Amino acid sequence: LFITFEGPEGSGKSSVLTAVAARLHKEYPVVTTREPGGIRISESIRELLLDEKNDMDYRTEALLFAASRRQHLVEKVLPALLAGKLVLCDRFIDSSLAYQGYARGVGLEDILKINEFAIESHFPDLTLYLRVAPAIGLDRIASNNREMNRLDKETLSFHEKVSAGYDLIAENYPDRVVSVDASRPLEEVIETVYNIIIKKLK
Ligand code: C5P
Repeated sequence: LFITFEGPEGSGKSSVLTAVAARLHKEYPVVTTREPGGIRISESIRELLLDEKNDMDYRTEALLFAASRRQHLVEKVLPALLAGKLVLCDRFIDSSLAYQGYARGVGLEDILKINEFAIESHFPDLTLYLRVAPAIGLDRIASNNREMNRLDKETLSFHEKVSAGYDLIAENYPDRVVSVDASRPLEEVIETVYNIIIKKLK
């Protein structure tokens, strides 16, 4: 089963993924990974994308995310799925749809096209969309004192567009995307996500 975690900045998706994976690990063979990154080529592309010095055209950005996704899928995700593992991935195609397609205005259709080329038929079996108001998410990041990269330094209105993009994607893919209220305490979100995954596995 291929499960992806999506959501705006400060939605807690990385913390939830780590905690849920630790619980699932007791019963199932689990592989956790992240995008952009997870393997050497994709981590190099991630560095390019996040580098302060790179003021990048939005379509170039979209193509680099898609290239990174392709290599990560082929080299890490598909072999793990073939080996019967449960793959939990921090971000996947919906990040590109929400960030580049919707928020940057490249367009959902064009982003879908290049990503269908990149992933072929390998859409996730389940996507957990951790939904949180952008202002709350950004406050969480500020209070964590996390170091900011090039793509983090965006305005609140950009993050509001990202969230609106995610809402639209959740509407467009109701069979695959489950929205989870991520404004609740972390422990509650972890419990909810864990239960959704267990239900899917049974
Ligand atoms: O999730 P993570 O914090 O690792 O993402 C790294 C950065 O890349 C974030 O600033 C995120 O907003 C940005 N990003 C993006 N477009 C994507 C995926 C991530 O701008 N498709």
